[in-house]
Amino acid sequence: MAKQTKDSRCSFCGSSKQDTLMLIEGLDAYICDKCVTQAHQLVLQEFGNKQSKGLDPSVTLLKPMEIKAHIDQYVIGQDDAKKVLSVAVYNHYKRLGQKVDKGDEVEIEKSNIMLVGETGTGKTLLAKTIAKILHVPFCICDATVLTEAGYVGEDVESILTRLLQAADYDVASAERGIVYIDEVDKVARKSDNPSITRDVSGEGVQQALLKILEGTVVNVPPQGGRKHPDQKMIPVNTNNILFICGGAFDGIERKIANRLRTQAVGYKVKKDDTELDLDNLYKYITPQDLKSFGLIPELIGRVPVLTHLNPLDKQALRNILTEPKNSLFRQYVKLFEFEGVKLVFEDDVLDFIVDKAMEYKLGARGLRSICEAIMLDAMFDIPSDPNIKELVISLDYAVEKFEKADFKKLKAA
Ligand code: ADP
Repeated sequence: MAKQTKDSRCSFCGSSKQDTLMLIEGLDAYICDKCVTQAHQLVLQEFGNKQSKGLDPSVTLLKPMEIKAHIDQYVIGQDDAKKVLSVAVYNHYKRLGQKVDKGDEVEIEKSNIMLVGETGTGKTLLAKTIAKILHVPFCICDATVLTEAGYVGEDVESILTRLLQAADYDVASAERGIVYIDEVDKVARKSDNPSITRDVSGEGVQQALLKILEGTVVNVPPQGGRKHPDQKMIPVNTNNILFICGGAFDGIERKIANRLRTQAVGYKVKKDDTELDLDNLYKYITPQDLKSFGLIPELIGRVPVLTHLNPLDKQALRNILTEPKNSLFRQYVKLFEFEGVKLVFEDDVLDFIVDKAMEYKLGARGLRSICEAIMLDAMFDIPSDPNIKELVISLDYAVEKFEKADFKKLKAA
């Protein structure tokens, strides 16, 4: 053991004993507290925290019905998607638990999930809410920025970089995380004939995605960006990562309708078209429609759970304003509470906001822009006026403020 004297120095950075908080002795070397911290961070970055937390036992106990009940607090409607997600996530956890029991011969396979529904119907919200309940690392990635390796854009591995970042570079924890890949419809094959133009953001990306969706060890650049020969890579096993893909698949209704019609003719199905819910063809979606849209069959096969989200009607929009735990109205009420002001929305204001969102086809996303337009003046004035203790938003007030706002701006939001 090296004997410490007042002249002893850290063998790594050379700091003298006086310049450090602590100098630890080795066999014939010393290391200071700063170098220990730095080395620890390097180890974490390189291999992750192998002694990371195990599965939170309280989480594994959540049954599908309980998972759905949690989601219900934040997401309005979409019962089919909620049910499918709850079951898939529950099974995912069972699968993770199964690892412990090595003697088991029946291996449960991973079930990645595809959510199909118009934009602004709650796909991202569903994925986010689930991740929150489960306390696992979660990240959202946008498929539109992905391109085939070697082209301008991001490699698919960047998805896992995000997940690693969300897990604080704890590889073991990231390997149980959930990734939401948004706008997955944008990587659909652009044309049936790939030789005309190179399809670097379409089929090429789908091929690259296959690899990570299926479960393999991927070398991930820790800081993202392009793979670089000098960059240290972190190996991440995607076997237990749950991938949730979401997309609006604009125009897929036509493909669904076509399929339903040809089926009806081809097989002489008695059910006539009037029985179909033409306002919501999404609910008849099958993997075959995804293929007609331009997803390659191998990719569809790796995302076996397919579910749809319903378009939001007036009642759903109305509920979104008031019902979720962190609904828009509740958020405004809270904001004004901080100022000591009681905020009340009159009932017909709700209808007005919903009507405007429907009229301008803004969907749920538009609710916030409309509310902001109505509330802006009050949020500006009230903090400087200590005499106001209550604010009632009446229909006249809402209409006046809404009309004052620049509508074009709202529509772009
Ligand atoms: P998508 O991913 O389907 O395009 P989002 O999940 O991002 O849509 O929804 C946008 C916003 O609209 C959400 O942040 C949420 O405030 C609201 N919203 C959409 N659908 C719902 C829903 N079913 N329940 C509650 N809020 C919703």
